[in-house]
Order: sequence, then C-alpha cells, then structure tokens
Amino acid sequence: MLKIKKEAVKEIKKQAEEGYPYEICGFMLGNIDFENNVRECTEVFQVENQNKERANDRFEIDPKDYLKVEKYADEKGLMIVGIYHSHPDHPDRPSQTDLMFAQPDMSYIIVSVEKGKTKSWRSWELEEKNFKEEKVSLL
Ligand SMILES: [Zn+2]
Repeated sequence: MLKIKKEAVKEIKKQAEEGYPYEICGFMLGNIDFENNVRECTEVFQVENQNKERANDRFEIDPKDYLKVEKYADEKGLMIVGIYHSHPDHPDRPSQTDLMFAQPDMSYIIVSVEKGKTKSWRSWELEEKNFKEEKVSLL
C-alpha cells in the first residue's frame, strides 16, 4: 500500500493540470517498508517528459534525470518509492506501455486530467506482472 502526504498529492494534481494537454511525470520520494509492502511518499520531484512527439499519451524519463533524482534522494536520506504521471483526457488506468516499463516494489500514481482539471487518480502496483490498484492512505 501507499501512504502519501496530502501536500504531495496536491502538488501532483497541480503539475498534471499545468502540464495539460501533455502528459507530465515525476518521482515519488520517501521510504519503503519492504517487509510489509508499505511505501511512504513525503515529497515529489517532477522531471521533464522526454517524449515530445506523443507527449499526450506516453512518457519517457531521461537517464540523466534518474541520476539527478537518485542523487537528490540520497542526500536527503530518501528512497524512490514510485513514479507518477498524468493521462490527459484518459482514465486513471495504466496503459500497456505503462505495464511494459513498470518495476516491482514501486507505486504508480496515474492522474486523469479532463479538460485541464483533475478528474480522478489512483495508485497501482505490480502483482504477478500485472497492475493491481493499491490501497492509498493520506498522511
Ligand atoms: Zn500512462
């Protein structure tokens, strides 16, 4: 399950709405309790969506941004607990592409933005190579 600070959710929604009609993405940082499968997100870190051609339905993260986020997290004693991205004018369900790039032990928040406004959001985790909606509790 995912525990996430209210302010972090607010920030993700804000980024998703500001980025509309393009897909935005970023990292969720915090801590992971592997034993109990609980991820805690205390802050978010937006990175640029490198896919300019199909930026409305696909996201790509520059490896350099990965390193930048890892360095930042290290310095603050945080871990990367997940990745969030938006689905402009599409439901908050993961796509086949999302599944292809997903990794275990991570949370994937998807925000559905319709006409520039957040409609809904959910968090997903991998289970047996498929996405399963995960329980979210706000901090
Ligand atoms: Zn997606």
